[in-house]
Amino acid sequence: MKRSKAKRCPDALVYRVVEVLFQKRGEGSKRRNNKKRGITLRTHITTWLIAGSWALSQPLAEANDAVASTRQQADQWRAEHRTIDLHQHIDCTPEHLARAVKIMDAVGLGLGVNLSGGTVTRAQDGGPSEFERNKYLADTLYPGRFVHYMNLDYSGWDQPDFAEQAARQIEEGHRLGAAGFKEFKRLGLYLRDGAGRLLKVDDPKLDLMWRRCGELHMPVSIHVADPKAFWLPYDERNERWRELKDHKSWWFGDTNKFPPWKALLESLNRVIARHPETTFVCVHFANNAEELEWVDASLSRYPNMRADLAARIPEIGRHNPDQVRRLFLKHQDRILFGTDFQVYDRLILGSSGNEPPPTDADAEVFFAKEWRWLETRDRNWEHMTPIQGDWKISSIGLPAAVLRKVYFDNARKLLAGGLPLPRLQARRLSRDLDLEGHFDDPLWQTAKPVRIEQSGRDGTVRPGLSTSVRALWSPRDLYLAYECPFTRLTVFQPPLSGRKRFDLSRDGVSLWDRDVVEAFIGADAARPRHYAEFEVAPTNEQLDLMVMDLPAKDFDWSSHFQSVVKVDNKAKVWRCEMRIPLSALSGTSPAAGTLWRLNLFRCDRANQAALAWSPPLSGTFHTPSRFGVLEFVE
Ligand SMILES: [Zn+2]
Repeated sequence: MKRSKAKRCPDALVYRVVEVLFQKRGEGSKRRNNKKRGITLRTHITTWLIAGSWALSQPLAEANDAVASTRQQADQWRAEHRTIDLHQHIDCTPEHLARAVKIMDAVGLGLGVNLSGGTVTRAQDGGPSEFERNKYLADTLYPGRFVHYMNLDYSGWDQPDFAEQAARQIEEGHRLGAAGFKEFKRLGLYLRDGAGRLLKVDDPKLDLMWRRCGELHMPVSIHVADPKAFWLPYDERNERWRELKDHKSWWFGDTNKFPPWKALLESLNRVIARHPETTFVCVHFANNAEELEWVDASLSRYPNMRADLAARIPEIGRHNPDQVRRLFLKHQDRILFGTDFQVYDRLILGSSGNEPPPTDADAEVFFAKEWRWLETRDRNWEHMTPIQGDWKISSIGLPAAVLRKVYFDNARKLLAGGLPLPRLQARRLSRDLDLEGHFDDPLWQTAKPVRIEQSGRDGTVRPGLSTSVRALWSPRDLYLAYECPFTRLTVFQPPLSGRKRFDLSRDGVSLWDRDVVEAFIGADAARPRHYAEFEVAPTNEQLDLMVMDLPAKDFDWSSHFQSVVKVDNKAKVWRCEMRIPLSALSGTSPAAGTLWRLNLFRCDRANQAALAWSPPLSGTFHTPSRFGVLEFVE
């Protein structure tokens, strides 16, 4: 929404109107109190309309429309399970995992990042570590729904080689599939050495470990300090009293025992400064939801710092929502959605005390309030974690383009190497399809799309170029349909036919050097470096080849695949349909349940984009370890 300076004044009033109307809609219990105010406002609106001022009604409608369309978009993401909660703690038992997944399904969370994955120290009898057991159970019962961060075993702290021990733990976690590393607030506040001294957040003994996390591309989530109020007097006047009275151990106001609040934050910043190659997600809104200026300055100073929202919307929501919104817009690539949703014998929704435990229905309300704060412009409503304090919060209504970064795109980039490999389902056709290039056949609507939208090199998401791909199969053929938004096409003219365009000895002259869509398909699980490659340009010029045993490539091979391309210059979309004979890919016909390996790519030269479905995270698309899965279904 663009606004001129001249309109700013009426806008301010309009926003006030919108605020109160939303507040009225949002809070049933407050409806009676607002009745009188509502009437006054309606009178205002009438007055304005009578005065013939469209300046008022138009932005009002625009603001409403913007929120409505954002919410609609976000509901769609939830329906597709795209949202990622970067901050959960799940006790990995079958019961607790089942409960977590049931709630995640109900609220539209696709992936939970379990920060309490456990340590990688082997059991005393040599059996698997806590981390291995947790990951194995979650991956077996709910594949693709969780990733796990590892935790550090400090038991060797007093030994002279602890720095190396810690680094080795990180290497072992990486080998076992830890998506990242989590440190709790115990560092700096609870953990003590053999002499009884608190371990320091910036102790040099930990430097090797922080560095190894960066080298292995394992993001760190780190909690230091806590709300400011936990350093203030321990009595009922403390605004966090309801939490503190049930958790005496959360109170750090004794200066003989604990470092000052700010000293902890500053020690973490020193660590972040010392390790520019390691990404630090500072949880709980950079551990300082009270001071927006400090968060802004720290994020600006340290490019390797991120902030999650876990359990701090009640605190962030107390600030001026316009100021918070500006901060989110400024650091939109650095803020990540997380909640501190915890499933143990007791459910914890951000925080808890001795009150009766929340129900699954309470969890749904909790998540609905998370969405409400990020997506609407509602003012002064009761927040999602009442035990944190008796105050109201105001929503920040992020635009959809920013919201998707906070909900999942930033996390997808952060976790790129640690996310479960994606899966494309090909549905079996009841009849063969004509290739038309516009996907009007209703059979295409039954195929669930996946997207090519991440940079192959580093996982950065390019929503504007998001290319959907659907798959279908018949006993004879595999069908792929690509839908590619574009700004300007870059192609070879005239297209070649009857001969493949490639020259491995020269740059810029092969088909893949201009705009193309690609599919790499491997049918033989025992030979991961053996797969077929298909490319089609917007001119419908084709190329296929067999990668015999990477890097060996057979360009003489021919699959006799067919393709049709339609370029819609008005809508700025080009569509490509491929029909690939299954017999060219495997001697054995697939059946429902067959799994092949697949990766999908798109090159768009005008936007300097080399995009992947499952980003290889390297300089080449030919990275079989990063291929996703093609699943044949009925
Ligand atoms: Zn937490």
